[in-house]
Amino acid sequence: FFRAFEQYGISLNRPQIAAVRHNTGAALLLAGAGSGKTSVLVCRTAYLIAVRSVQPQHILLMTFSKKAADEMRGRIRSLPVLDARAAGGVEARTFHSFCLQLLRGRGYRQAILGETGQKHIFFKRLMRELLLQNDYEPETLLARLSAIKLQMISINDLPETTTEEKELKLLFSRYEQWKKDMDKLDYDDLLLEAYRLLRDDPALLASLQSRFQYIMIDEFQDTNQVQYVLVQMLADKHQNLMVVGDDDQTIYSFNGARNDYILNFEHQYPGAVTIVLDINYRSTSTIVGLGNAIIQNNKLRKEKTLLAVKPKGVNPSYARLKTTQDEAQLIADTIIAQTAQGGKRSFGEFAVLFRTASSSRALIELLLTRQLPFIDFGDGQLFYDQWAIKPLLAHLRLVMDRRNFDAMETMLPTLYMNREQAMAFIWNQDKQRAKKWPLIHLLEYPQLKDFQKDKIKERIKLIKSLTECKPAAAITQLRQGFYDQFLETSKRHEVTEHKEGLKEVLDEFEAAASTFDTIEAFIKYIDDITDKHAAVQQQQKHEPNRSAISLMSIHKSKGLEFPVVFVIGASEGILPHSSALAADKHSDRSSIQTGNDTKAEALEEERRLVYVAVTRAQEELYISSPALYRGKPTELSRFIRSAFVAEQEADAGAETALAWICSSDSCQVWQRIITYEDSQAASRACPMCNSPMEQGTKVLPKKSK
Ligand code: ATP
Ligand code: MG
Repeated sequence: FFRAFEQYGISLNRPQIAAVRHNTGAALLLAGAGSGKTSVLVCRTAYLIAVRSVQPQHILLMTFSKKAADEMRGRIRSLPVLDARAAGGVEARTFHSFCLQLLRGRGYRQAILGETGQKHIFFKRLMRELLLQNDYEPETLLARLSAIKLQMISINDLPETTTEEKELKLLFSRYEQWKKDMDKLDYDDLLLEAYRLLRDDPALLASLQSRFQYIMIDEFQDTNQVQYVLVQMLADKHQNLMVVGDDDQTIYSFNGARNDYILNFEHQYPGAVTIVLDINYRSTSTIVGLGNAIIQNNKLRKEKTLLAVKPKGVNPSYARLKTTQDEAQLIADTIIAQTAQGGKRSFGEFAVLFRTASSSRALIELLLTRQLPFIDFGDGQLFYDQWAIKPLLAHLRLVMDRRNFDAMETMLPTLYMNREQAMAFIWNQDKQRAKKWPLIHLLEYPQLKDFQKDKIKERIKLIKSLTECKPAAAITQLRQGFYDQFLETSKRHEVTEHKEGLKEVLDEFEAAASTFDTIEAFIKYIDDITDKHAAVQQQQKHEPNRSAISLMSIHKSKGLEFPVVFVIGASEGILPHSSALAADKHSDRSSIQTGNDTKAEALEEERRLVYVAVTRAQEELYISSPALYRGKPTELSRFIRSAFVAEQEADAGAETALAWICSSDSCQVWQRIITYEDSQAASRACPMCNSPMEQGTKVLPKKSK
């Protein structure tokens, strides 16, 4: 069997072979990134079928994302030792699709609600009915509800001491009731309903237990409680459960994933075999070394160090750039250089990873402008289409054109007016008297309260005063004038994380505006970007398989690999994210929602994110950190800093490092020298401006405590 594999260039190492050969009983495969965990599951599947004569349909493989499941099925199909029929017979699924199939098989006909769309619309409507729409953010509440359900806490058991608890409990139970009445299930329900089905139908459970003689779970470190219980139930009869994971890659604790499951596996299944893989086959040795250096700073982990087999390759490079625009330029230039005629790579070999979606704005816009093909694996929404941006943008449009009725409609809620009624009134007045500025009609709106009248007057004055303003200054004035306060008062609830998310988005909007001199130019730019974005989305629909740069959050990149990876925004406040830096301030509520009780734990999760990001790269890794972020100076991310400073230097308290530094005064690019070979290399050209680079020492930003 293994020789057949070798003929195809796959030669497994000893512990991998041991894992593939593992016969019956529970097994835990605990290993670092890129060490061939997923590969082992795929090979073991083939081994069970080809050597142990297990029927394909007796094998169940589960993983988390659809992309990962697709990839796993693809890898099984391409194995040399299996024919198509056998490969097709294996169940390789995501938890959700497994549960859905189970429910459908039992006559559950409910429609499935996606994460956006109808679910959102209805949830918002419910919030309005309960008069909660001004106090909470629907996204925040839905996330909270999800965390509660995935931890298998019943809504009935939620406390109702405070008013807030009462309100939320009522809202949650109404939402659950609505789904029941409308015959719908959301994603969390799929897991929970499947669990209930198995719990209440012993015959069904028994038949599944008999069928799935071998169960294997990938990315086990990110299992939530429901998934964990489901797995336990399914594996209960044969106990042939192999789980595979890496405690250093737990990055979904906000979703109820608990590192304890992997750390306690041996207690749960006494006699379980633990197999450790420690050779990384994915990345060059310098990338592996960087990953090790980063993650070893975590305290809550099983100690392990990855060894590399690939040669050194290109040094991971680190560039500290002035702005996110410069960062985007550098990435675009690097990609163009490598993909140009006769270049060595195709667009599909590149991935750009980031912590939060809004930090990818500058890059997305540059890629659109320079017409480089990319796929955004986020929600596909353009930055300017976000709900928090729209009213601000509408004000800018009104500055330019007072008769922009769409913009007027968008901004009405910020005057605490009902959109439909106020618009009907404005239309009516406008038809009769056609004032130059229809907003003025609002002052005659019936039963207007004094405070509303004042607000309208103020707003008219404010909009008038912005005519000559630069767009960034105009946004500042709008925010200071009313918008920040509007957001503040309309969200009574203390959800720090979300507030920070909002601030982040608004600051980013201001940063985007800061490169324009006039509001008109900025709006024109946004309209242009919007058109380009729509065109790209159309194209993607028609040509889904064309080679394109992958853009995704680090969370989404789990389990994947790319020849070239860019990690952007490696600055304090972005990565680690400001919400983690502030985590100790709201530890009281975060424990249920995020599982992270303290700042230290939140920071460890951020560090795991960096580890996941870095270990996606096979050949080249570029880390960049904008020095100026949303108009404010940032420090280099502590994770990168501590990993790039050699240990001796850190011990001696040295704050400098050897580096290639661009000789041009206006360019801030520098690359840390890590290896001896690199220090011996001849001069090189700056990847940003092509000026020669010189060796020197670079003072590293102060170490963050
Ligand atoms: P992650 O933690 O990121 O999910 P993983 O442990 O699942 O990583 P794999 O994706 O299975 O790792 O493997 C990483 C890469 O190493 C893949 O490209 C795979 O083909 C390759 N690989 C795995 N085992 C071997 C081996 N024994 N010899 C050569 N290449 C291997
Ligand atoms: Mg994997």
